[in-house]
Amino acid sequence: SEIMTTCHVVLFPFVAYGHMIPMADMAVLFASRGLRTTIVTTSSTAHRLSKTIQKTINYTHQIALHTIEFKAGEGSAPPVIHNPDQIINNEHLSRLSEAIATLQEPFEQFIEKSQPNCIVSDMFFPWTVETAAKFNIPRIVFNGTGFFSLCVSDAIQLYPPTVSSDSEPFVIPNLPHAIKFTRKQLPQIDEELKVFWKVIIQAAEAEAKSYGVIVNSFYELEPEYVRHYREVMKRKAWHVGPVSLFSKNMEDKFERGKKSAIDEQECLKWLELKPAGSVIYVSFGTIVKIPTSQVYEIAMALEACDVNFIWVIRNAQETLPEGFEARMNAKGLIIKGWAPQALILDHESVGGFLTHCGWNSVLEGVSGGVAMVAWPVMAEQFNNAKLVTDVLQIGVSIGDVEWSAASTCDGVKQETIERAVATVMGMGMKEGDAMRMRARELKEKSKTTVEVGGTSYSDLTTFIEDINAFRDMN
Ligand code: UDP
Repeated sequence: SEIMTTCHVVLFPFVAYGHMIPMADMAVLFASRGLRTTIVTTSSTAHRLSKTIQKTINYTHQIALHTIEFKAGEGSAPPVIHNPDQIINNEHLSRLSEAIATLQEPFEQFIEKSQPNCIVSDMFFPWTVETAAKFNIPRIVFNGTGFFSLCVSDAIQLYPPTVSSDSEPFVIPNLPHAIKFTRKQLPQIDEELKVFWKVIIQAAEAEAKSYGVIVNSFYELEPEYVRHYREVMKRKAWHVGPVSLFSKNMEDKFERGKKSAIDEQECLKWLELKPAGSVIYVSFGTIVKIPTSQVYEIAMALEACDVNFIWVIRNAQETLPEGFEARMNAKGLIIKGWAPQALILDHESVGGFLTHCGWNSVLEGVSGGVAMVAWPVMAEQFNNAKLVTDVLQIGVSIGDVEWSAASTCDGVKQETIERAVATVMGMGMKEGDAMRMRARELKEKSKTTVEVGGTSYSDLTTFIEDINAFRDMN
């Protein structure tokens, strides 16, 4: 309708792939529903992602790009973002926060000039809630995770664990399921993470003052937690995902993240030759670092399982064992660099996913209908892992691993990896067959939710109605 096409949304993503990619997908989704969107980002830090954005923009004239700049000088952030190696480190995080604060002025100049109807901004831009108040428009938060994780984080803040040891399990109170955690699986409240917690608390305070939260998830995936978030935590929220479904199958027009290190047709050709559900995809996302010792254990496990695999090796320092590549020539495809992940996970031949449980990966795994080996490392990955293993029961946990401020994994042995991979790949284990069946059911649900009349489709309609109503009342 008339009203809907004139609605203008400003999207302000945080410059990390796990936040930028789903927001670019969201821009495509919004455009498909007649909304006009402008993505605001910084030219200096976004140069790695400018292709993603540029291609999104070329896809439809409904999407525009506006760049703003960090204030130059002391505390300038680009090196921090360019090198996410120690993003949790106090000093780097402080510099990052300071630099992000310098974006407020140019961001507000843009809002004043363009007068959008709402701001959808990342949780890491807490001050945008002040901007929205100044211009009397709603600020909507994008956290980059799902409802389950949002509920778990909130409950842990409200009821900090009282167990005496780091490895003693405790049940998080007041949630729809009795979810067990140990303190090792959570970031520690200590000096080392002082700035991290400051950032998290600022984000939570700003979220409480925001108009609502837009979530890349769908109702059928985590219904109890959608309800808990709305009814118990009393937050306004809209589920509009999986947003990756809007950009898939148009790779020529839209590059998700970086240009793939492998020719996509070649990758598909390789997959075509493998039986349905026979391939496990192994990737740890864009931030987690895998030490050589763990690369070795993973390699040995894949070889021992005698399974087909695609393994994404991101860093040059992730060296493979001597002779491994040659021995695995027929069974394994090793991608050194960026993988066309959404494309791979959606392929018939892929049946399993060894993942660090970044939310985008989990959701792309769900919409690909694959069973998962959940190997969380940091951030809210442990929450996402519990959803996969304990609630959805579409995966197995890699076992007793610790939350790592250095974003690396450690100490997981070949036998453990081997057992987990064999289970999800249904190699003679009933448990795995049931998981794979449930995963395939979720895949179907993930497709219908975004179709006309589906739950995510309808919730986006509500979102559009809500921001229009806000505008008409103000
Ligand atoms: N991704 C990709 N190719 C790669 C690595 C990552 O396409 O080689 C994409 C992946 O599909 C997902 C995002 O990058 O959309 C990573 O986000 P996620 O939340 O899974 O993990 P993070 O990198 O933030 O830890």
